[in-house]
Amino acid sequence: RPYAAAGDRYATTDYRQVGTSGVYLPPVSLGLWWNFGDNIPFDRQRELLRHAFDRGVTHFDLANNYGPPYGSAETNFGRAMREDLHPYRDELIVSSKAGWDMWPGPYGDLGSRKYILASAEQSLRRMGLDYVDIFYSHRPDPVTPIEETIGALDTLVRQGKARYVGISQYDEKQTAVAAAVARSLGTPLIIHQPSYSIVNRWVEDGLTGVLAQEGMGAIAFTPLAQGVLTDKYLGDGRAQRAQRRSSLPDAPLPHAAVSALRGLNLIAKERGQTLAQMSIQWVLREPTVASALIGASRVEQLDDNLAAVNGPAFDTEELERIDALADT
Ligand code: NDP
Repeated sequence: RPYAAAGDRYATTDYRQVGTSGVYLPPVSLGLWWNFGDNIPFDRQRELLRHAFDRGVTHFDLANNYGPPYGSAETNFGRAMREDLHPYRDELIVSSKAGWDMWPGPYGDLGSRKYILASAEQSLRRMGLDYVDIFYSHRPDPVTPIEETIGALDTLVRQGKARYVGISQYDEKQTAVAAAVARSLGTPLIIHQPSYSIVNRWVEDGLTGVLAQEGMGAIAFTPLAQGVLTDKYLGDGRAQRAQRRSSLPDAPLPHAAVSALRGLNLIAKERGQTLAQMSIQWVLREPTVASALIGASRVEQLDDNLAAVNGPAFDTEELERIDALADT
């Protein structure tokens, strides 16, 4: 069945400015790390992508190695672009990245000019796009000079293959240096993609200050701690997951963690929210965070998460209670 986007898709979303740039993102963006590989039927992927766009989610985040197997999330997203979303290309912010292992040998990992330019070409081919809206250096490279890595991002913009560029997982100092190099080249870094959640607050130890100073925005990845900050673990601490995630232990969560999650869930309930909604709203309270970058295996999860913006503002007492529980 041919797709026509919902006519009211922009009726309810308040888009948020990314730093001082001209880019606005939806408060909740959809990442394709999991649930878009070849192990998931394409029709389910299509349903999620259509539903997201119908509800005003204009940003889809990818990387070269999302799948499994590596590359397949981009290939599948390319099919959805071709079959469904193509007429809406100018309404979308599509991002990709290079920086983690992608192909064997010395040129398929980290931050060399060789790798980044080749990987970006491959990503565009898989997605069937002429350009991405944002291309990221996916992680800092301890060896390659930052001028080389950021210079490759600048080249992508000048070649018309990326509209904007950003960095992911760079710490406070690396971010300040990268931003200065980018500015000197005339291609400012507009966005940083760090992990950030109620239980993972490293960005608050300096990074957000640098971002504010540089006029950069952030998009917070894994705001639900890969599903831990949802109702998934509130029972016996063992989650029913759509896919096994190699980065999460198989064992049930320890008792103390489950009881902290139950405490957080109680606060969410008092606020009239689900734990997932409160967790998303919590990262969005940080002024540099333009968007919460979530994953979802089902349309119901997406709807649950999109309603996060309807919650009441946090008061100081709630924030303190959340801090105390997050500490345990
Ligand atoms: P989340 O923390 O949002 O976890 C998403 C998972 O939580 C879903 O797949 C689902 O699990 C579960 N979930 C989501 N919503 C609900 C809900 N309402 N109720 C119950 N369970 C729910 O983030 P991800 O780990 O998926 O990462 C999000 C994105 O961040 C990635 O797709 C990627 O784009 C980006 N990312 C970037 C990285 C980087 O280095 N730059 C690293 C990691 C991620 P299930 O699928 O089991 O149902």
